[in-house]
Amino acid sequence: MAITRGHAHAELLPAFVLGALDPEEQVDMEAHLKLGCEACRRDLEAWWPVAGALALLAAAVRPTASLRATVLAVTLQSDASGPS
Ligand SMILES: [Zn+2]
Repeated sequence: MAITRGHAHAELLPAFVLGALDPEEQVDMEAHLKLGCEACRRDLEAWWPVAGALALLAAAVRPTASLRATVLAVTLQSDASGPS
């Protein structure tokens, strides 16, 4: 995985794939990609799998409210009907 150095937009790519850019940076980045910057396009392809892995990791660490409620409900149910 070769990440381009010394290119301002390339440094924004990790945050871009995570959707973590400021709105102005997001617009700027999208405009830059639409111009067809080959270096950013290549790096973007390298960053997508990383972003996917991070998203999974974040989901595992911090479950959504509905998932948490479901897990709690199932846990309480199994406690009530458990062998003890
Ligand atoms: Zn670029």
